[in-house]
Amino acid sequence: MIKEKIREYRDFARRINKWQRKEPPKVEIDPTVTTCDNCGCEHDGRFCPQCGMPVARKRLSVKHVVLNFLDVWGFGSRPMFRTIGQLFTRPGFMIRDYLNGHYLRFFPPFKMLVVLTLVFVVECHILGLDISNHIDGAQLQKPSYSTDQKKIAEGLLGVLNAGRNFLDSNPTASIILQYVFFIFAARIVFKKRGLNISETFVAHIYIACQMQLLAIASTLLTLRLSDTSFLPHNLSSLIVIPVLVYDYHQLYDVKWWSSIWRTMLTIGISMVFLLLFIVVLVSVVGIYIASKADVAGNLSGG
Ligand SMILES: [Zn+2]
Repeated sequence: MIKEKIREYRDFARRINKWQRKEPPKVEIDPTVTTCDNCGCEHDGRFCPQCGMPVARKRLSVKHVVLNFLDVWGFGSRPMFRTIGQLFTRPGFMIRDYLNGHYLRFFPPFKMLVVLTLVFVVECHILGLDISNHIDGAQLQKPSYSTDQKKIAEGLLGVLNAGRNFLDSNPTASIILQYVFFIFAARIVFKKRGLNISETFVAHIYIACQMQLLAIASTLLTLRLSDTSFLPHNLSSLIVIPVLVYDYHQLYDVKWWSSIWRTMLTIGISMVFLLLFIVVLVSVVGIYIASKADVAGNLSGG
């Protein structure tokens, strides 16, 4: 009885897996010969070989007009909905299909991240949630700091504020920059799984899209922002980690256990990178300000 149930479940899982792995279908060439409305060239297929205009088999409809209108913001195209759907049903396999050359079948990753980030920002604005990365300068005003320490702290704050202003006005660039350490970590951990650094980068832009969609949904459901985890999305680690394991299991074609420990290792290495970066940044700014204070001290003293 139980054995039968297990076999049923395994069959079901196998069928799902087979469907997830299936490559996109080939498009048959339409043999109908038409005259291009735009340049007059006679041709078969769906596009004019001279000017590239798609063949309009039907007259303009309301749907066309609406989709055209939505297209101004990057919404409304068929690949957009297909890409969103497949980012949940078969994310890793979809990304591999894209990297294997099915470029036009899916919505381009960077454009998609820009659109989704815009949606998230608008959503937070409507819900009255503040997503800017405020750095509080008040705690640096404590009298216990010596003048030099205070100068160093103020200088550091200046650098951080400049960075914050840039990132606040470029939310998509902010997300991509915050992914950099994570992408290098993933490249190291999955070195033998066949993706080069550029492919790893593009794959993670799609993963960022997927996380952004989840952030949009979870913010709408909870009506508040979760704290960002090691990835720059307002999403709980309880969601981010399982989703990453699921993505890597498909994208790198590794077993579940392998995907779990490699995901943890990727997170760990990216944390080390981030820590090193902060140490280097603080030292550089510290040395620079200390040297300036020295010069100023010498001038006033002698
Ligand atoms: Zn033409």
